[in-house]
Amino acid sequence: MAEKKKKIVKTIKVDADKCNGCRACEMICSAFHAEPKYSSNNPERSRIRVNRDPLHDIYVPVYAGDYTPAECAGRDKYVIDGKEYDECAFCRASCPSRDLFKEPDSGLPLKCDMCEGEDEPLCVKWCTVDALVVEEREEEVEEEEAPDEMELGLESLANKYGLSKIRETLDRLSISKKG
Ligand code: SF4
Ligand code: SF4
Repeated sequence: MAEKKKKIVKTIKVDADKCNGCRACEMICSAFHAEPKYSSNNPERSRIRVNRDPLHDIYVPVYAGDYTPAECAGRDKYVIDGKEYDECAFCRASCPSRDLFKEPDSGLPLKCDMCEGEDEPLCVKWCTVDALVVEEREEEVEEEEAPDEMELGLESLANKYGLSKIRETLDRLSISKKG
């Protein structure tokens, strides 16, 4: 059995009431994750997206969580303070039922990495109204290695095309590289 360890877990606390829909968070997140870094700022590549409905005063920033291979069965509409929110408005998953949190060129799932290598998540830094704030808490976690981005990407491709198709493609690629 995996050993338990104490670990500081960082999360982003979202205060939707403070969000004004400026989308600076989307811009900086996509720029940080562009290849090369800061070469473009396409919000489709952002790991945080703002559900925006100015006519109804609705702004809900959501940052990308885990990829899930199946659509959920528990969708619902939410009415909070008289405002009606879309059924997927608060969901952080990259899932088959929508294009959100998928790399636009490859379709691979995107997940927030808390801006790895930076002192502070950039969306938090750029949100001047403090709708996004870092929260730290201590948690007991099992010492298991989290799947890395490549593993998640391969899992998603395997679910989409099947393992044999991926093997065939890899074989073809390695032959054409050698040849
Ligand atoms: S930067 Fe802040 S205020 Fe602007 S859209 Fe993002 S969360 Fe909302
Ligand atoms: S913490 Fe970084 S990776 Fe995560 S949503 Fe914010 S800007 Fe994007």
